[in-house]
Amino acid sequence: MTTYILGGGPAGLAVAHGLCEEGGGDFVLVERGDELGGLARTVEWPGHGHHDLGPHKLFTLDEALWSRVEALLPADGWLVREKVSRIFLHGHYLPYPPSPFSLVKVFGIRSFAHLTATYGWARLRCLLSADHARTFEEDLVRRIGGGLYRALFEPIARKLWGDPARLDAKLSRARVQTPSVTEVIAHVLGRRKKSEFEALTFRYPVGGLQRLWDAVRKATEGHGRILLRHEVRRIEMRDGAVRAIECRHLGEDKAVTLEVGEEDFVVSTVPMGRLADFLGEALPRELREGIRRVLVLNDLILVFLKVAPKSLLDESWIFVPDPEVVFHRISEQESFDPEMATDGSIVCCEIMSNEGRPLMRESDDELVEQVRRGLDRMGLGEARVVDQRVIRLPKTYPVYRPGFEEDLDRILDRLDEIRNLRTIGRQGAFHYIGSLDAMDIGYGIARWLTGGAGRPWGEERERTRHYPVLD
Ligand SMILES: Cc1cc2nc3c(=O)[nH]c(=O)nc-3n(C[C@H](O)[C@H](O)[C@H](O)COP(=O)(O)OP(=O)(O)OC[C@H]3O[C@@H](n4cnc5c(N)ncnc54)[C@H](O)[C@@H]3O)c2cc1C
Repeated sequence: MTTYILGGGPAGLAVAHGLCEEGGGDFVLVERGDELGGLARTVEWPGHGHHDLGPHKLFTLDEALWSRVEALLPADGWLVREKVSRIFLHGHYLPYPPSPFSLVKVFGIRSFAHLTATYGWARLRCLLSADHARTFEEDLVRRIGGGLYRALFEPIARKLWGDPARLDAKLSRARVQTPSVTEVIAHVLGRRKKSEFEALTFRYPVGGLQRLWDAVRKATEGHGRILLRHEVRRIEMRDGAVRAIECRHLGEDKAVTLEVGEEDFVVSTVPMGRLADFLGEALPRELREGIRRVLVLNDLILVFLKVAPKSLLDESWIFVPDPEVVFHRISEQESFDPEMATDGSIVCCEIMSNEGRPLMRESDDELVEQVRRGLDRMGLGEARVVDQRVIRLPKTYPVYRPGFEEDLDRILDRLDEIRNLRTIGRQGAFHYIGSLDAMDIGYGIARWLTGGAGRPWGEERERTRHYPVLD
């Protein structure tokens, strides 16, 4: 049996690695890029060093998964970094999560008293009523009160996803934990919370994430083929199963057809909308329309600045709900591995383009200019910018519209009826997850394919539906 893996990001690579470790036959991995790693790849910036597409922290609560990933690199191939985050709002820096004292600084004592009262009232009402919130806005107003919601969460939600009244409550439930009264008191006393949802440290491969993907490549040598610069363009189906994958070899500009035999299997991690296009008329029209309707994806723009001096920030990340700053998050590669930038520092500013803020239309120069104004506002404008680059990642951030989950389940059930195809991963299953979650899903399907999971596919899909967001 040959497993065809479409896409060489963390999910696809874990499928290949899992198949090798579990004796799952050979594989052919098809990746359109020049490198493996997908959204989690490290790229070179000639003359300035290397950086990720937005530095990635690696963190999971799943110890078995972690041991498996950790073993891909030698013990001295990992760095352990302290995670330090802050928030920049209304011209002030706040700790993350914000302490009551910092909120007094930003909002003044009267507004703070109002926020506290609405928060307390919301907590009390929550204890007495069942949760029926359907949207991001309803959920947070219910849990933390309208005051705190509008002050802290609405501005960042608008920057990231657009109108919070048009977002599913799954986003707020996954990303905003309501602290207990004891946690609030601990925070007031200055004790750092040891929450299971908060990564206080994280791991990072020495030299960049690419080291990890290179290690997977090495570990799978001799078990299968990796076809880089091969873009899937069409998938042919017969009798309810995939029979051929048509690709374009982008390097040699020629067509390549991979025949899929009776015993073979296809795991797709490419964006589900693209998969639907590849399958074309083999899918019923209403299914294709459903996929188009449900899969709303925002574009991400990354503005990288090479700055002097060596280090600009003390934090791993600063979250920026401040409406007057164009980016929603800023970080620098230095906080992940200080050796990756040559001389100065590589700073990454993340800008989401959504329907309320269609920034993808702006030119690179305009975006850089807006970023520099943002840095000035944050008091970081003194840094000397040596070079700049803009990387656009179209359609990469899932936007969950209210009620999307039922539609998505129906779509996945229909696609799962194709006998020898499963679509998984962040883009493949419209799943807002991190890279280790994507790897867990990849390892899971490899186990399932080799019979090791010992359960029907529906249960394996269910197992991977909810991963905690570990901020
Ligand atoms: C800015 C940013 C910051 C992030 N920070 C973190 C973090 O701190 N920690 C964390 O754990 N995660 C983070 N993530 C998320 C992480 O990158 C993703 O969860 C992970 O990459 C998903 O893996 P995947 O394999 O499912 O999908 P992808 O990484 O999207 O891989 C899909 C692959 O399919 C390929 N492909 C697409 N179309 C075709 C085609 N037609 N033919 C062939 N190949 C194709 C793509 O080139 C890509 O390589 C971040 C993501 C971004 C963008």
